[in-house]
Amino acid sequence: MRYDVAIVGSGFSAIAVSINLLKLLPQSASIAVIGDDPGFGRGTAYRTEFHLHRLNVPAGRMSVFPDMPNDFVDWLQRQGRAITPDDFASRGDYGLYLRDTLAALLRSRDGRPRLEFVKAKATGCVNQYSSGTSFQLDNTDELLARNTVLCLGVGNANLPISDTAIAEAAEARIIRNPWRLSWLSRVQPHDDVCILGSGLTMIDQVLALREHGHRGTIHVLSRRGLTPHAHGAHKAPVTPEYPADTRELSAVLATFRKQVRDGAEWRCLMDGLRSRTQALWQELSRDQRARFLRHALPWWNIHRHRISPAVANRFNALIDAGSVVVHAGFIEAIGWKQDKAEIDYRPRGTSGKAAFAVDWIVNCTGMERAGIAHSPLLREMKRDGMIQADELGLGIVVDAAARVIDSHQAANPHIFAVGALTAGRFWEITAVPDIRVQAQHVAGAVAAEVNGKESQ
Ligand SMILES: Cc1cc2nc3c(=O)[nH]c(=O)nc-3n(C[C@H](O)[C@H](O)[C@H](O)COP(=O)(O)OP(=O)(O)OC[C@H]3O[C@@H](n4cnc5c(N)ncnc54)[C@H](O)[C@@H]3O)c2cc1C
Repeated sequence: MRYDVAIVGSGFSAIAVSINLLKLLPQSASIAVIGDDPGFGRGTAYRTEFHLHRLNVPAGRMSVFPDMPNDFVDWLQRQGRAITPDDFASRGDYGLYLRDTLAALLRSRDGRPRLEFVKAKATGCVNQYSSGTSFQLDNTDELLARNTVLCLGVGNANLPISDTAIAEAAEARIIRNPWRLSWLSRVQPHDDVCILGSGLTMIDQVLALREHGHRGTIHVLSRRGLTPHAHGAHKAPVTPEYPADTRELSAVLATFRKQVRDGAEWRCLMDGLRSRTQALWQELSRDQRARFLRHALPWWNIHRHRISPAVANRFNALIDAGSVVVHAGFIEAIGWKQDKAEIDYRPRGTSGKAAFAVDWIVNCTGMERAGIAHSPLLREMKRDGMIQADELGLGIVVDAAARVIDSHQAANPHIFAVGALTAGRFWEITAVPDIRVQAQHVAGAVAAEVNGKESQ
């Protein structure tokens, strides 16, 4: 059979597109969601069961529906959680909210299209032109769909050193994918741990370790040793001012700094920038974007992707107690000595060497660049000319409506991408407040195609 729509992926982007399509498509339409994640809709971010894993966006901005901003807060209140729109709810609760929202729509089936979950990974696909796209699944099935929405999220980054610089004996102590939280049960309470990377994933893993009863030292190593800032008390965003005649990054930054010197709170300025970031990104030249990624990204991340005050207090207390030690430097090798992994690194700003020994190494070096290398499906689509990788390695090339652009520069009216895969065009498209808007637009475009075909 041929589905009207295949949604490939099973994280937030996939559930947001599904929810919108359920509302927009006629009863005769069919949707298949292809996903390998057991907790559909929760993806990496919202499948955690640790209560301490908090959202980093206030509850009032996390509704899955952009036009019903209180939906998540209302759900929390129905569950008896004492949370206001400015509070930071748990990520586990957010996963449950998504599940309940979808379930409620599926229960009220009257007039709703058919939605099927196909528990599999799409490993390849073939363009069947007027019939659509047929996907090969890792359970050996095939699935044909007239329209496709790619919601693949991002892959986990590789370790920042080559495998040849890693002692064989240390391999068993390296956690390459920290999102499988089962690794925590292998850690003994007084083991020492090295976390590579100092962003939000690191914060998550530190909290999860402590929650699991871990009491050893946690070394955090990243190139600059910068850790995320905390949100402040809620205040109104401040509209950023840009220089009139240029988008050169140094000039843009200089105007922001002046606003801060003149009294604007930097957090309010970052919040004011948020709704303008996509437009600003699109005004930058390719070189300016590349320079931003090369030089400004670590600072962007810690100012833009902030953590809740409660999480920040807990993390800072661990630093003050010496339980978490942050190093700025470049890892060069992972050796093995006296039953411990030895981290050899060059401290930032020096040409010297330093080392420390740990029992575990956890790779938390990033998720923000989707690229296509992590996905056999995307690699095959690129080989067949169905998509192009964007030139900065952020994801794939799409047009303003998130339709994928093929190797002949043509926008495919039947294949869309949602979420971080489209960061090359939109940049600010990794968090719920942005993805939910894109998901709604893409679902609208797909529904127009399906409904148009229906009325023919
Ligand atoms: C730890 C963490 C915390 C976060 N906290 C917040 C927050 O508080 N607020 C906020 O707004 N945002 C937050 N984010 C951002 C978050 O990434 C987005 O909100 C959202 O989860 C992204 O969803 P996604 O579906 O695009 O990607 P993902 O959640 O990565 O889901 C993609 C899914 O697709 C599946 N998949 C991939 N390839 C295939 C294939 N070929 N076939 C089938 N399935 C496939 C994957 O297995 C995965 O389940 C957080 C992110 C992380 C990682």
